[in-house]
Amino acid sequence: MTSPSDLLIDKAYVAGQWRAAERRFPVTDPATGEVLAEVPDLSADDAREAVAAAEAAWPAWRRLAAKERAALLRGWFERIMAHQEALARLMTREQGKPLAESRGEVGYGASFVEYYAEEAKRVAGETLPGHGADKRILVMREPIGVMAAITPWNFPLAMITRKCAPALAAGCPVVIKPAEATPLTALALARLAEDAGFPAGVINVVTAARPAEIGEVLTTDPRVRKVSFTGSTPVGKRLLAQCAGTVKKASMELGGNAPFIVFDDADLDAAVEGAIASKFRNAGQTCVCTNRFLVQDGVYDAFIDRLAARMAELKVGNGLDEGVLQGPLINDAAVAKVQSHIADALEHGGRLVCGGEPHRLGGTFFQPTLVADVTAEMKVATEETFGPLAPVFRFHEDEEAIAMANATEFGLAAYFYARDYQRIWRTMEGLEYGMVAVNEGLLSTELAPFGGVKESGLGREGSRHGLDEYTELKYVCVGGL
Ligand code: NAD
Repeated sequence: MTSPSDLLIDKAYVAGQWRAAERRFPVTDPATGEVLAEVPDLSADDAREAVAAAEAAWPAWRRLAAKERAALLRGWFERIMAHQEALARLMTREQGKPLAESRGEVGYGASFVEYYAEEAKRVAGETLPGHGADKRILVMREPIGVMAAITPWNFPLAMITRKCAPALAAGCPVVIKPAEATPLTALALARLAEDAGFPAGVINVVTAARPAEIGEVLTTDPRVRKVSFTGSTPVGKRLLAQCAGTVKKASMELGGNAPFIVFDDADLDAAVEGAIASKFRNAGQTCVCTNRFLVQDGVYDAFIDRLAARMAELKVGNGLDEGVLQGPLINDAAVAKVQSHIADALEHGGRLVCGGEPHRLGGTFFQPTLVADVTAEMKVATEETFGPLAPVFRFHEDEEAIAMANATEFGLAAYFYARDYQRIWRTMEGLEYGMVAVNEGLLSTELAPFGGVKESGLGREGSRHGLDEYTELKYVCVGGL
């Protein structure tokens, strides 16, 4: 059984072997700058070897009884939960989020493994009436083949399990390319999978500092039949174009520009709590985090006062320290983006209510910031800030809020607070988003289909729909009966 100290791994995982490399890159703690480990910077050839290992493992993996795949997934789930604390500490150190959030992510990430361990047994086809008296139609659901997962740094564990658990359940081997900022959690996950008994080649982790080189292999190699990407919209578009050459099935979980609408009949205390959860979790570095607060005239000043008061309670610091609610941002570029959005908003008439500056702790720590009187001309209206900035827009009529909310090329998550049931229905139906939270600030769960519309992506993760992404339908026409 793996001990917690075994979870800090500095080797990649290919074909069931832990692979070192001469070329390596450092993984640093964003809170302290400390180098936690140096991991292999693998090459395109290594990536091709990982694909070959996955392809070789596929026939046996798909032939395994669904119950046996389910048992392996269940064993992986149990090991992840048994090491929840060690994984959470590792994640906080390489990613920066507060420890309580890391523990939450381990539980959330593990829930996909548990869910798809159950669902593996329910991958069903169907029999349909034939188009002639002597014919029958069978619809078989078969695993698509090798899946390549390219994942971001903001959820180093859950974005991997959300893709790999349904793929593995369906009978597909996987090659994972974790983000260069957070490969350690991915490698720890692979160690726990190895411990659970997954056969060699079924799970591979390719660490690399030059993602484009690995991405090129994973999106163009004909042996990879499915690419599942979570990350920014520009990179997603590029990968999607690369997938076209071999007509690969692709899932894209991309950026967002989530609106959070507060109508004048809302329960303001609940709205403020929802706002804190949705905006400041992971220091505002989540794809579903609120990017724009749209607040109706009647409650505009009251909402801003209460939100600012709650923000003053957000303790900023090293995620490992007791009581910290906001950790550092991932790197200097993230800080620069937040600063540019604040400067642009203030230049165009925004009003700074609190924060606005790098935190006195230095490094990449930043003050929780609230800017009021924001308008559609400002950058924050159209671009994802990905940091602890809460911009507040004012609106008058309900229709205006829905139009403002939809005035973006993104369509991932939207939130709103209201009490009137007609207003609730009108808004729910009017929002062009893949996910809508009503009187709720957190919506991710393995039980629901997660995903976006418009330029926020293609495909869904979680729920039974998440499994369909890793299967193909085979129609068999049985004649001569
Ligand atoms: P990113 O696009 O920079 O990187 C994501 C992954 O792609 C990383 O593993 C990176 O190494 C890799 N990558 C980068 N360039 C590549 C290339 N040319 N070829 C192949 N791979 C490449 O995104 P990020 O900064 O890590 O993550 C933040 C973004 O992810 C935000 O836009 C956020 O909204 C989005 N996100 C979306 C979801 C969702 O479910 N929709 C969830 C989390 C994050």
